[in-house]
Amino acid sequence: MSVLIFIDHSEGQIKKSSLEVLSYGAALAAQLGTTAEGVLLGTVSSDLATLGKYGIKKVHQAAQESLNALDAQVQGKIIADLAAGSGATVVVFSNNFSGKAIAPRVAVRLKAGLVSGAVALPDTSNGFVVKKNVFSGKAFALIAVNSPIKVIALNPNSYAIKEGEGTAEISPLSVTALPPKVRVLSATVASGEVPLTEAELVVSGGRGLKGPENWGMVEELASTLGAATACSRPVADANWRPHHEHVGQTGIAIAPNLYIAIGISGAIQHLAGVNRSKVIVVINKDPEAPFFKAADYGIVGDAFEVVPKMIDAVKKLKGIA
Ligand SMILES: Cc1cc2nc3c(=O)[nH]c(=O)nc-3n(C[C@H](O)[C@H](O)[C@H](O)COP(=O)(O)OP(=O)(O)OC[C@H]3O[C@@H](n4cnc5c(N)ncnc54)[C@H](O)[C@@H]3O)c2cc1C
Repeated sequence: MSVLIFIDHSEGQIKKSSLEVLSYGAALAAQLGTTAEGVLLGTVSSDLATLGKYGIKKVHQAAQESLNALDAQVQGKIIADLAAGSGATVVVFSNNFSGKAIAPRVAVRLKAGLVSGAVALPDTSNGFVVKKNVFSGKAFALIAVNSPIKVIALNPNSYAIKEGEGTAEISPLSVTALPPKVRVLSATVASGEVPLTEAELVVSGGRGLKGPENWGMVEELASTLGAATACSRPVADANWRPHHEHVGQTGIAIAPNLYIAIGISGAIQHLAGVNRSKVIVVINKDPEAPFFKAADYGIVGDAFEVVPKMIDAVKKLKGIA
């Protein structure tokens, strides 16, 4: 019996969301009186032994370069086989792009109950009950999982990374390379930007910015803060910004520590993707804009006056000329 945690990575780097699930899985293992182990498919540049500081005892690594790219069917089989062979009773994923693709396949193979979108450690005082977000973050549901093996996909940014001391043992995992069922013909990687789903700070713009030519100040505020940029759906639909920046019900759901919304009205479909942000700052010239009801801080004013002043203030604070 143990907790097995999927360690997701991209371009040789372990994702921040993986550190969250490692911390979560280790805390869950302690709660269950068992140990936590990680599984990494592919290769990364960092020393996997250092992942022990997040509370795991062992990392199973199938160090085949062919496993670096996501192939949910191949990876799902490897993880399910490992979980079954090692006697894992809980398998934990991040509910990110990879986790959403792999976790259900692992659950089916293990005949396990799956909770996707978990936001807290399970309550194991009477059974195994997991809290998750429902209705686009408008409510919570408590899901009792009764199957012997459980699969959890934890929402990114809902569990704090906990670092301690410790070194993990590396256990090479030999896998028979399965023939891939899908073949990636090409991939375009957004480079030089903070990935939106991993970002702690996000600066987002809406139709109030009038046109793509006015995004310079959004990007400058974001780069000064070290933030990712996002946008509302009409902005992406009009091709003012790339679609991967679109947040909301039909876009990406994010939960950064700080979300700054500039010229966005705060429609319910937009809020569905950002209302798990820890602090929301809204800049809108209309004091009746619905977004102010969801805001922790609101500035009623013209974005074209407010944002340059914010950039100056942040630069001054950071000592940037
Ligand atoms: C099924 C469905 C799914 C949808 N999914 C999504 C989704 O995932 N994400 C999403 O974002 N939307 C989604 N929408 C669209 C959503 O309903 C809204 O239409 C959209 O979010 C509005 O975008 P906006 O706030 O940028 O634009 P607007 O509603 O046009 O608001 C612009 C805001 O800017 C303010 N403003 C104007 N000028 C300035 C200025 N100079 N300074 C400061 N403020 C200014 C205005 O007061 C206004 O509040 C969906 C709609 C449907 C029906």
